[in-house]
Amino acid sequence: MAKYVYFFGGQKAEGDSGMKNLLGGKGANLAEMVNLGIPVPPGFTITTEVCTAFYERNMQLPEGLRGDVLANLKKVEKLMGMRFGDPKNPLLLSIRSGARASMPGMMDTVLNLGLNATTVKALAELTGNEWFAWDCYRRFVAMYGDVVLGLKPESKEEEDPFEEIIDEKKRAKGIKLDIEFSIEDLKDLVARFKKAIKKKLGVDFPEDPVEQLWGAIGAVFKSWMNARAIAYRKLNDIPASWGTAVNVQSMVFGNIGQDSGTGVAFTRNPSTGENMFYGEYLLNAQGEDVVAGTRTPLPINKKQKSDKSIKSLEEEMPEAYKQLLGIRATLERHFKDMQDVEFTIQRKKLWMLQTRTGKRTAFAEFKIAVDMVREGLIDKEEALMRVSPDGLNQILRPIFDPKEIEKALKDGRMVTKGLNAGPGAATGKVVYNAEDAEGWAGRGEKVILVRIETSPEDIRGMNAAQGILTSRGGMTSHAALVARQMGKVCVAGCGDLDISYKTKTIKIKGKTVREGDYISINGSTGEVFVGEIKTIPSEVLRVLVDKTLKPEKSQIYRDFESLMSWADGVRRLGVRTNADQPDQAAVAVSFGAQGIGLCRTEHMFFEGERIDAVREMIVAEDLDGRKKALAKLLPMQRGDFVGLFKVMNGLPVTIRTLDPPLHEFLPHGEKDIKDLAKKMGIAYDRLSAKVASLQEANPMLGLRGCRLGILYPEITEMQARAIFEAACKVKKTGKDVKPEIMIPLVGDVRELRLQKDVVDRVAKEVFAKAKMTIDYKVGTMIEIPRAALTAHEIAQVAEFFSFGTNDLTQTTFGMSRDDAGKFLRLYVEKDVLDYDPFQRVDEAGVGKLMRMGTELGRKTRPNLKVGICGEHGGEPNSVKFCHRTGLDYVSCSPYRVTVARLAAAQAAIEGKRGARQAD
Ligand code: ADP
Ligand code: MG
Ligand code: MG
Repeated sequence: MAKYVYFFGGQKAEGDSGMKNLLGGKGANLAEMVNLGIPVPPGFTITTEVCTAFYERNMQLPEGLRGDVLANLKKVEKLMGMRFGDPKNPLLLSIRSGARASMPGMMDTVLNLGLNATTVKALAELTGNEWFAWDCYRRFVAMYGDVVLGLKPESKEEEDPFEEIIDEKKRAKGIKLDIEFSIEDLKDLVARFKKAIKKKLGVDFPEDPVEQLWGAIGAVFKSWMNARAIAYRKLNDIPASWGTAVNVQSMVFGNIGQDSGTGVAFTRNPSTGENMFYGEYLLNAQGEDVVAGTRTPLPINKKQKSDKSIKSLEEEMPEAYKQLLGIRATLERHFKDMQDVEFTIQRKKLWMLQTRTGKRTAFAEFKIAVDMVREGLIDKEEALMRVSPDGLNQILRPIFDPKEIEKALKDGRMVTKGLNAGPGAATGKVVYNAEDAEGWAGRGEKVILVRIETSPEDIRGMNAAQGILTSRGGMTSHAALVARQMGKVCVAGCGDLDISYKTKTIKIKGKTVREGDYISINGSTGEVFVGEIKTIPSEVLRVLVDKTLKPEKSQIYRDFESLMSWADGVRRLGVRTNADQPDQAAVAVSFGAQGIGLCRTEHMFFEGERIDAVREMIVAEDLDGRKKALAKLLPMQRGDFVGLFKVMNGLPVTIRTLDPPLHEFLPHGEKDIKDLAKKMGIAYDRLSAKVASLQEANPMLGLRGCRLGILYPEITEMQARAIFEAACKVKKTGKDVKPEIMIPLVGDVRELRLQKDVVDRVAKEVFAKAKMTIDYKVGTMIEIPRAALTAHEIAQVAEFFSFGTNDLTQTTFGMSRDDAGKFLRLYVEKDVLDYDPFQRVDEAGVGKLMRMGTELGRKTRPNLKVGICGEHGGEPNSVKFCHRTGLDYVSCSPYRVTVARLAAAQAAIEGKRGARQAD
């Protein structure tokens, strides 16, 4: 380990924003701001490597660190013209954690470090403000007592011990706000805090600033392994091995008086993405006051104001605001992305304390990306990389039905309006804590988590809820921040809500909302409604699918269209859809599907009267009986395919022959069998015997897929006939048709050959009769390992492959998807698996078979078309894997088509960037 400590301050820093791994996000960007000439209080960063070493050495700090820290402290003292621990001119420090990835509120910060009985007096004298000095001291004792010494609430029900003392004091004095305390009150608080520490922990509060400093540095490193941080990392896929850096920085004070303040801001609106400066501030405040929700923060500019009686920062301190605007522009130009900044104004002088890429909603993510291309800040490829495919999906999510809203308004059900912290519409049953949210959601209930404010402990509950509603906190409160990141609907800071955890009620405007009652929140407007409100499709869907909205009327749609067209410009991978019905297929085409990759014909067998004919076929005693029943099905199937071919209008349509085991079409209970026997006019015993004979110990591995068609070629024959007759019929109307017949569950080329012979023979017959021919392909699904292993043989017959990754995953792992639920979650939790292989392609195993299958197949048939049609075809990571494996297309459900298009584009860009790096 070369260097433990990196200095920043004055005009130059030793680090820069490229060193996030070593300095953490906060430290690297503090350095970068210094290098950009932005005013930052000087300080230094202890690297993440020291954190790693700390854990490797049984929580011992490495030798040599001490000297480096003290040397850097000297530099800070020199720049500030103050000395740490000096009885006359004391330098105070903030000790801040900062990991590579931002983990809001997960780890701990200590402010005003270096205060003791002597230095607090010096601070009072220096500033001529005794109140301020004691305000700093009481904050310091509480923070240090909590973070370093560990005086925390012992259970969930308990309040924070320091808050409790403060509340008690406020009650005794009949005051509400911290700023109403007198100097004597603050002194008394310090004394009481120290007493509580002594009583509960049996230790004296340290007076020696150097001891304080090392205590705080150790505590930040230790906080990397606290329960909150661990839970957060798990949820966000952050490895524990990264470690955190520690930033030691000279303090600047926003709590010196009415000419001082502190705030947080986003360079653009983090909810909507609108290009406007957006933030909150408080006068005479320090640290987390803005986000803590104890005082309601004020908007930083006039544009954001909703209430005339309050003063924005723009009006209160125009000079500082103007400077802030300049920094906003500098930061956006430099980082080329929306920034989330923290600032403090000490006696009218502005200091920047942090900048990082701002968390934003999916809406904002996408709008900012598109806008920044138009503004010339980033190029199209960069924009494509910035929109997460899953986030894009959120833009398709429903919103409240305006008609229902109108009705609710009339009925007086709109009870209050809070901050529109996480857009979208959510309705659900009210629960009052995270545990209940998880529990209820686990039982399939849709819930809205209602809290006074949220804290990092609530994360899992927030994740489980449809939406989050809080009565305290601003746009940058924990609830708002986390909700935006999770893509949750969130309304924050609804001050009118009188929430009681004890009685589990909200009182609002004379109404009482109990646990389990419905509530509806609109995270785009901040409106809160009691009762349930129905939703309707998003703007994009109304333009594309319902066609009830004109494209020119929807900016969201037009931005969406731009982004998708950029994606289509760079992607190589085709995107098809899994659809069995014309209407589904039409939706998919409007989302940009370039064909059908999987049409499951069995779905057509279940519909209405058809099931009767299917059952008749199954029960038939002999070939003739089966043929008679199949003849009834033929026109129906043909009708289905005519519909599909018409909608697809010349795009390829891959149709899979019958796949599921026949018993799925028959009833199983005694009563149901009796009823059916009666309906079919056959003896109960006969039907019951048939059901029994189809019983299989393991249907997943039984008589299904091509095995059915081999046993009963007449089924394949009927299906092929329906396909080709439909194709001829549609072609005669002038439309092009491209049928691709796909044989499922092939494990040996001879299986495929038997089935292909049937298909080819029928094709010939149909074409002869219709006096026309149609180009078609016969291919197979690769969905059992043997097919992948013998793909070179299978490709002698198959004209295309499509990986059926649902079955391929089942058979590769030897675990049934339907039964895996019992242990898969545990497997993921215990790190046996990194993720659920039924959701995302297991690259090491299943993926290896896919690679092998593709390569072997193309060795035999170089132009072999290869696709995927399992659920994985719409999962972004899997789509990217398919690109890298050289597949021609992915096929997914209609609503995932846009996700797949974007993921395919990202894969192509990643490929290019990777190749560039390798050069
Ligand atoms: P987090 O990572 O949770 O955001 P920070 O390290 O940013 O924690 O610290 C929390 C808050 O403490 C900051 O928002 C800022 O207001 C305040 N703070 C941190 N360092 C200083 C400093 N040097 N001077 C004044 N305030 C500070
Ligand atoms: Mg911060
Ligand atoms: Mg299958």
